[in-house]
Amino acid sequence: MNEAARGAGPRSAVVVGAGIVGLSTAWFLQEHGVRVTVLDRKGVAAGASCGNAGWLSPGLAIPLNEPGVRRAGLASLLQRDAPLHVPRTADPALWSFLLRFAAHCTWPAWRRVVSAGVALNDDCLDAFDTLTRGGVVAETVEAPVTAVFGSAGEAATLLAELRRFTAAGARADHTSLTASEVRARLPQLSERAGAGIQLSGQRHVDPARFVRALADSVRHRGGTIRAGFDVRSIRHHRHAVTVVSRDNVSFSANVAVLATGAWISRLAGKLGVRVPVRAGRGYSFTVPTETPLRQPVYLPTVRVACTPYRDAMRVAGTMEFRGPDDPPDERRVQAIVRSAAPFFAGVRWDERSDTWVGPRPVTSDGLPVIGATAEPGVFVAGGHGMWGFTQGPVTGKLLAERIVTGKQPEALRPFDPLR
Ligand SMILES: Cc1cc2nc3c(=O)[nH]c(=O)nc-3n(C[C@H](O)[C@H](O)[C@H](O)COP(=O)(O)OP(=O)(O)OC[C@H]3O[C@@H](n4cnc5c(N)ncnc54)[C@H](O)[C@@H]3O)c2cc1C
Repeated sequence: MNEAARGAGPRSAVVVGAGIVGLSTAWFLQEHGVRVTVLDRKGVAAGASCGNAGWLSPGLAIPLNEPGVRRAGLASLLQRDAPLHVPRTADPALWSFLLRFAAHCTWPAWRRVVSAGVALNDDCLDAFDTLTRGGVVAETVEAPVTAVFGSAGEAATLLAELRRFTAAGARADHTSLTASEVRARLPQLSERAGAGIQLSGQRHVDPARFVRALADSVRHRGGTIRAGFDVRSIRHHRHAVTVVSRDNVSFSANVAVLATGAWISRLAGKLGVRVPVRAGRGYSFTVPTETPLRQPVYLPTVRVACTPYRDAMRVAGTMEFRGPDDPPDERRVQAIVRSAAPFFAGVRWDERSDTWVGPRPVTSDGLPVIGATAEPGVFVAGGHGMWGFTQGPVTGKLLAERIVTGKQPEALRPFDPLR
């Protein structure tokens, strides 16, 4: 967009956080002619945007805060292998977060999250297309996601959930599959696969590759990305916003966007954002398969996602509420292997490589925080939990529009960070 069309909007922006959300926001700000600098304490894709399952799957972006999660949370205190894990030694702030989260595990709250998400989910794939058409050299692969179960009885739970999801306004085109149908489509499955549900119209990516290509495009369009810049404060003064690093290096721009994923509350709290964001950590690793996997497989009963990844299979799962920088816990990886292995044949689990842990940014009410903070010129974007990769580009697009025009897009209203 040229200068005249941009009107009185900001000329420069500093974006803190080089994950999918921060880089998408930077890219779309560039579309409006804004000069961007992206700062990250480590570098590009140093957080959750690196080793995740890479599903761009609006049809499965079902909120986490369903009532059953309260039961699962209690079970997790007793079973080490449970997909949801809360350490018994959790700090008081985490318990307070979990109590707030539990208070939102009701059907009315769940429906609110689904209907708020419709606007993001309906446009999320278009936003990826805008990026790839606009110079982000990375592929998004269209393929269905197949949910696999031990029996048709088990599949009934997801079918009911999809019915509720679509009744609340979401789109999830799906077909039920018998045991033989699901095994014919996915020769990697074992005899344990007794039923399936296939969701069409979904896509997947190599997430680290995509985020790096997005960063390359931001640079190519004149943006700067600085690694090793660990922001400790953000302040507005006169007509600029200044961010200061832990080494006391400062950087100023007309506006700032805080997109630091699971670390967001450390700075957002001081900007009037009261919705807490905690790390719901997940793990992933890669295993070779005898026959190449052609489409993502979801194991809802054990909450494991499997994706075709560089001629092998990336396996991702677990939700562990610990500090985003805590060391990985090998027992969580073993728990994923134990829960997923019975569903597959011909997967060489003992040749596991690429083990990774990353923090999903989870809010206490299930809604992301996207928009203006109490500090003039400072915006926040994050807290997308399980679906931040899918919703990252559309978030960046809408937030850039909000920043440049000064008008709140209707789609962002439910995500007001000051709610
Ligand atoms: C195992 C797993 C599987 C997942 N699978 C999917 C999936 O299939 N599809 C999907 O849509 N989503 C998925 N997700 C969720 C998704 O990965 C996240 O929601 C998303 O990546 C969050 O992006 P972000 O940009 O907000 O945060 P991040 O990618 O975490 O980026 C935040 C950045 O901020 C930087 N930072 C932090 N603090 C500071 C500071 N003070 N100063 C400067 N920089 C700072 C960090 O270094 C980091 O690079 C998955 C997550 C996990 C863990």
